Amino acid sequence: MKRIYNFSSGPAILPVSVLEEASRGVLEINRSGMSILEVSHRGKDYEAIHQGARDRLLRLLGLAAEDFTVLFLGGGATLQFAMVPMNFLTPDRTADYLHTGEWSGRALAEAARFGKAHLAGSSEAEKFSRLPESWRFTPGAAYVHVTTNNTIEGTQWKTVPPAGEVPLVLDASSDLLGIVRDYSRFDLIYAGAQKNLGPAGVTAVVIKKAFLSKANPQIPSILSYQAHAAADALLNTPPVFSVYVLGLNLQWLEQEGGVAVMAERNERKARAVYEALDEFPSVYDPTVKVTEHRSVMNLTFRLKSPGREADFLAGAQALGMDGLKGHRSVGGFRASMYNAFPEEGAYALAEYLRNFARR
Ligand code: PMP
Repeated sequence: MKRIYNFSSGPAILPVSVLEEASRGVLEINRSGMSILEVSHRGKDYEAIHQGARDRLLRLLGLAAEDFTVLFLGGGATLQFAMVPMNFLTPDRTADYLHTGEWSGRALAEAARFGKAHLAGSSEAEKFSRLPESWRFTPGAAYVHVTTNNTIEGTQWKTVPPAGEVPLVLDASSDLLGIVRDYSRFDLIYAGAQKNLGPAGVTAVVIKKAFLSKANPQIPSILSYQAHAAADALLNTPPVFSVYVLGLNLQWLEQEGGVAVMAERNERKARAVYEALDEFPSVYDPTVKVTEHRSVMNLTFRLKSPGREADFLAGAQALGMDGLKGHRSVGGFRASMYNAFPEEGAYALAEYLRNFARR
C-alpha cells in the first residue's frame, strides 16, 4: 500500500494499523458473521465498542466518569455551535466568546440567536494572526467559549485563560488529545472527530455532570445534552462506523503512550517545520509571528513571492506530500500535523522547505 505524507486539515491522516483493523471490521466484527456496518447499535458488539470508546476518551483526558460524561453526536462541530447556546443560554443572559478566527466567529453568530453573545476578546483587527492581547469576561456569564486551536489561522491557546466561576466551553476540534491540558478545568469540550480523533461523521462532546445539570431541558430531545446523557449516549442510532474507528484510534493512542507522548511528538514535528520556515525570512512568511501563539497542529505560512506558489506545491507533490494548500478563505499554505501524522513527514517537509528556499 502506497502512503503519502497527508498534511490535510481534516478529514485527516489515520494510523495504518487503525485502517487495517477497521477494514477487517468492515468484513466481520468479533466473529459475529456480520460486518460492523451491519450490526445493531443495540447489540452487544456495538455496545462494547460504544462504551469502550467513551471510557477510553475519559481515560486519555484524565477525567473521572463520576464527574464527566461523553456523548457521540452527529452534525459536526458546527451543530455544537448551536447546541451549546441552545442548552445553556437564555435571552436574558450573556455568554462570552473569545473570537480568534473563522470557527469562533461561526460559534459566536449561533449564540447570538439565543441570548447575549458578548465579544470578550478578539484578534480580528490583526486578521487573527495572533491571539487577543487582552479580554474581559462578564461576571455571572452563562459560559465562556474558547476555540483552543484555530485550524485555519494557525493559532493555538497553549493555556486557556481562567474564567473564575464562569463555566468554560471549548471547541477543541483540532487539538483535543494533541496537547497536555488539565481537562478537569473545563465544563464542556467538543470536537469534530475528523482531525485528531478519528474519521468524519461523529463529534465527541465531554460534559461535566455539574454543568449538565444546568442545561435547559425544554428543548427538542435530539438537541438536548440531558436527553442524550440520560439515554447513555444512545438516544438514537449513533454514527456506528465512525464511533468504531474513533475507538480504534483511541486504542492506538493509548498504546503509543497517551496524550503526553503525543504532545511531545507534536512539538518536535512543529518545531522542525517552524525552524525551517524561520531560517529563510526572505522566502517564507509564517502567518503567526508571536511564537507562543503558533499552533503545533496547523502550521500556516505564505511565500514572499506568491508567483512561486504553484511551483512550491508541485515540488511537494512530487515528493509525496499532499494537503498543503491553505484554507480557501486565507490562501497560502498550511501543514496540518495531527497525532497520527508521522515525525518523518515533518522532517521531510522541513528538508523540502530548505531545499526550495535555496533554489
Ligand atoms: N471548529 C473548528 C476549530 C474546526 O476546525 C472545524 C472544522 N474545520 C469546525 C469547528 C467545524 O467542524 P465540522 O465541519 O465538523 O462541523
